[in-house]
Amino acid sequence: MFKVFENLYLIENEMGANVYLINNGKSFDLIDTAMFMETDKLIAKIEDGGFHIENLNKIILTHCHCDHIGGAAELVKRTGAKVAAHTKDIPYILHEKVIDGSYHYMMIQEQAYMKQYNCVLEKVDIVLSDKNIIDTLGGLEVIHVPGHTPGSIALYQSENQIMFFGDVIRNKHNKGLVIGVPDKFNYDTNQTIQDAQHLMEYPIKYAVFGHGLPLTENVERLLITARTPEEVKASRKKSKAHRKLAKAE
Ligand SMILES: [Zn+2]
Ligand SMILES: [Zn+2]
Repeated sequence: MFKVFENLYLIENEMGANVYLINNGKSFDLIDTAMFMETDKLIAKIEDGGFHIENLNKIILTHCHCDHIGGAAELVKRTGAKVAAHTKDIPYILHEKVIDGSYHYMMIQEQAYMKQYNCVLEKVDIVLSDKNIIDTLGGLEVIHVPGHTPGSIALYQSENQIMFFGDVIRNKHNKGLVIGVPDKFNYDTNQTIQDAQHLMEYPIKYAVFGHGLPLTENVERLLITARTPEEVKASRKKSKAHRKLAKAE
């Protein structure tokens, strides 16, 4: 667990997405919960960081994918924490529906797996919509970004200009900043690109992601280098051609 900014900590996980811990003094909140099989490790990391798991107040879910919601049911069981999510992703989070599009079959498998391990949430307590302000970290604005999943959200703290991108942009250690990649995970990749552009219109000093390390310096200059799935594919083709050429030479 490491400090990104004053009361904001990043917890990295082996399989699941990043988890963020927000220290609100007497209690703390989490953004996302990683995979269900990592929950014991997640709790150990939180306790090692000096927090008591029973002081978990609420869990904000950025979207319905299992690498973000997997630990939520167990955390709720152990602490009674409240869960917040965007209204459009709630049916997927509760396994009442399966997403359409390229993620459909993966989500059927994912839901079956989660059911088998008894880690499906029973309810979402706080129903979020665009422009809601969540009472944490001095006020977090909900920004609905429907490209990655229909109810994906980004979160923005205006006073310190902190943007939580969720999975709209990832900071991949080997590829740099990429928008909604791999694109098979997106509900609508073109919309994801528009979402990324929309988020980059905000003034941003701290950029944090569902996957990869945060950016805390030269942030706006780095963000405009984020590549789309098309650009990533094109550069892959190019480097393949280069390798072929090098071999031929
Ligand atoms: Zn993810
Ligand atoms: Zn995702």
